Amino acid sequence: MTTIKEATKKSMLDNVMQQFNKTADSIKLNPNIRKILSITNNEIILNFPVKMDNGEVQIFTGYRVQHNNALGPYKGGLRYHPTVDVDDAKALAMWMTWKTSLAGLPYGGAKGGIQIDPTAYSIGELERITRRFTYALGENIGPEHDIPAPDVNTNEQTMAWMADTFMSTKPSSERSRNQHVVTGKPVGSGGLEGRNRSTGYGVYLTIKLLYKSRGESLKGKKFIVQGFGNVGYWASHFLTQDGAILIAVQDAHATIVNQKGIAVAALFDYSKKRKGSVQGFSGAEEMDPKLFFGLACDILIPAALGNQITAENAYSVKADVIAEGANGPVDTDGEKIALENGITIIPDILCNSGGVIGSYFEWLQNRNGELWSLEEVMQKIDKKLTEVFYKVEGLVEEGEIDWRTAAYILAITRIETAYIQRGIFP
Ligand code: GLU
Repeated sequence: MTTIKEATKKSMLDNVMQQFNKTADSIKLNPNIRKILSITNNEIILNFPVKMDNGEVQIFTGYRVQHNNALGPYKGGLRYHPTVDVDDAKALAMWMTWKTSLAGLPYGGAKGGIQIDPTAYSIGELERITRRFTYALGENIGPEHDIPAPDVNTNEQTMAWMADTFMSTKPSSERSRNQHVVTGKPVGSGGLEGRNRSTGYGVYLTIKLLYKSRGESLKGKKFIVQGFGNVGYWASHFLTQDGAILIAVQDAHATIVNQKGIAVAALFDYSKKRKGSVQGFSGAEEMDPKLFFGLACDILIPAALGNQITAENAYSVKADVIAEGANGPVDTDGEKIALENGITIIPDILCNSGGVIGSYFEWLQNRNGELWSLEEVMQKIDKKLTEVFYKVEGLVEEGEIDWRTAAYILAITRIETAYIQRGIFP
């Protein structure tokens, strides 16, 4: 049984459009720029054949939606999930545009993926699916045009296959100039030390800075996490290092609780051996998934899929802080209820932006032919994200507005300024 609600596709797009329109109204966004940002530049749908292990050919559908590139090449992840479709990808691509703009990166926004349940395929099949998808994408991606990265159910192995496939289609003299076609690669193949922890680290850092501004530390704070993949794991790792206590985890298979604290490293090792499932972990007890969001805690980290906290369950949330590790986990109705109840939401475009900030450093490292140590990388990510955090906080206080509204105002204003400076071709 699935315990993580699968995102309602239409409403992810509804959510991002509602958030955008609200901001556009409040800042009186230039009407022409509003028109441009309301649509996605390109929506690519690819059907491609792959030979399965049993010799039969299966047809797959892959997507890449490029929302806007006013600030630089398109950037954003690729996910492998049964819910992936063009509306999902549109919503997620828009969130990437806001995220990269807010972080002050020279990127636009894109997103895509393949509509599959990756657990249903062998490693060999996943490799062939990924390579054939990359080949089908062709020149729609490129190191200075559109740069994919990992997302839900994709990882550094997926990116290594993509980079190799893309580079193999180029003349050998140009091979190395194309390494930064994707980010989130393995460290041995052009990847960045620390990229895999950067999203979770950013989630932790934004929570830490929020409490710091309140004059509090993380010691003794109880937190719960939905999704124990890369983001959920690394956020938990850093939070517990600062003395916070992980009391419950929910994934697609089970919801587990231990009020005394769940051992993060042990749970991660356990789940890795079970295709990412936390079910049956001896250091916690299984509980009713419906009661998860209502658990008494300080911090709730939804780090799985979109539309998890909605009008249906937002009233039950007891946490003081919701830190959006995932993209779009709180819908606009859920947000309204949570804000009325005095909950602070650290919005996705800030909270999980450590990932794309890490990607930016990987891209720069490849472009400049440099190699940085883990320590250097973490310092760079820390500095960049801390600056962005305080910018958003400054606007929250100045405008007496919520964090998402402040983040959106900063993100959209930056794009508006760029358009006004350059005008519209021709
Ligand atoms: N998939 C991640 C996100 O949603 C990372 C994107 C990237 O690094 O390009 O932010």
